[in-house]
Amino acid sequence: MSAGEPADLRHPNHVLDELGFRYDPNNLFQQTANALLEAAEILDLPHHLRLILAQPKIEIMFHFPVKMDDGKYRLFKGYRVQHNNILGPYKGGMRYHADVSLDDIKSLSVLMTLKCSLAHLPLGGAKGGVQVDPRSLSTTELRHLTRRFTAALDGNIGTDHDIPAPDMGTNAQVMAWMADTYMNFNANLGRHQARAIVTGKPIEFGGSHGREKATGQGLVYTLERCLPDVGIALNNMTYSLIGFGNVGSWGARLLAERGSTLVTVMDHTGAIIDPAGIDAEDLATYVAEHGGVAGYPKAEAIDEKTFYQTKVDVFIPAALEQMVHEHNASWLNCRVLAEAANAPCTPAAERQLLERGVLILPAILCNAGGVTVSYFEWKQNRQAETWDLETVDTMLKKHVYSAAEKSIKAAKRFNVDLRKGAYIAALENIGKVYALRGIFP
Ligand code: NAD
Repeated sequence: MSAGEPADLRHPNHVLDELGFRYDPNNLFQQTANALLEAAEILDLPHHLRLILAQPKIEIMFHFPVKMDDGKYRLFKGYRVQHNNILGPYKGGMRYHADVSLDDIKSLSVLMTLKCSLAHLPLGGAKGGVQVDPRSLSTTELRHLTRRFTAALDGNIGTDHDIPAPDMGTNAQVMAWMADTYMNFNANLGRHQARAIVTGKPIEFGGSHGREKATGQGLVYTLERCLPDVGIALNNMTYSLIGFGNVGSWGARLLAERGSTLVTVMDHTGAIIDPAGIDAEDLATYVAEHGGVAGYPKAEAIDEKTFYQTKVDVFIPAALEQMVHEHNASWLNCRVLAEAANAPCTPAAERQLLERGVLILPAILCNAGGVTVSYFEWKQNRQAETWDLETVDTMLKKHVYSAAEKSIKAAKRFNVDLRKGAYIAALENIGKVYALRGIFP
């Protein structure tokens, strides 16, 4: 940015300013990069590493046509952003959503780098997706779109290079189509080896036991490890949930097994309440049939404000980014906010909640269960092995507990909140590898 640029366009973070960012406090990528850089500053990470980590290594954006059921063609926009691979091959989900944008994908790719490092996985960070509302497509259209998207990604993904996984709007079936498409283009790779191109596949086709529930399971292990520190026990905890998709519904079903009470749920169709507790298993069956929580007959419908204001021990956003913002953060009546979704709180909301003494369990810790079991699936495919559920869960718990302890330790060492602690622990690991390898040449 030139010295003559108006002051309010210059980014207050000197690294983002040096990289030429025009300041936009509402931009998700700038928020995420800024949070990373704040942690880097506390850690005193070398300046050149801050520059490297403040931008993804590779940003791919492309258009591809798909023939729809009515015989007409539609053009779709696809993305894959590869943030950093110092720790290993790029890894990250593929999102199908109408609002997918480059900056959002960039932001999520940064979080993947930090998450893999914190969970001590030999993987880097990436994210991708297609700008589409998957609910508006027929099964045939979804399959054709997935196959064209995978073909268009071409050599940009690979079993040792970049390994996609499910995210919002995609699932095990979509992963199966991705893997099958890749295998058709790469017949030279062995069958097991080629299946390692994506994770989150159906169990019958190289998926791992425990992968579907993994993010919810990781959330439960995070709560199990962190809540006793603030005097909350899982077996008498009350909580609210935004989102009842993969992460939310699995988290709720697993928390029900631990005796927690689900008081309110909100998704894209509406919000419901039952102070005596909503039956997560029953609600999951209802949502599978009706597409959302609206109209669930065993709970009362409420408006959005009531949903946010309901008093609970733990508030769990498990839907979109930036859903907790400066306007609704003041409505929250909870002691802990567990970020099951990626980047669900804006920086302004976070500041407000921290000032009020709310403990925020950061996304790179709370939802690291998904990528951890994805790593287990990748490992099983490469070794032609099948692990049982007990093995997966035991190893997942070890990774989550260790990530939580590293975050807590760093937060204490630097006297910062838990998000900063988690980011510092993740960056410290990355910084060590850069120091050992140096910058080529
Ligand atoms: P999903 O598509 O299965 O479910 C998304 C949920 O969000 C749905 O219940 C939907 O109704 C709800 N939602 C969408 N728009 C909403 C709105 N405007 N208001 C309220 N609710 C809304 O997605 P998912 O896989 O459960 O992912 C949820 C979050 O968890 C995302 O941030 C994702 O990046 C993150 N995450 C997912 C995984 C995984 O393994 N699936 C892993 C790590 C992180």
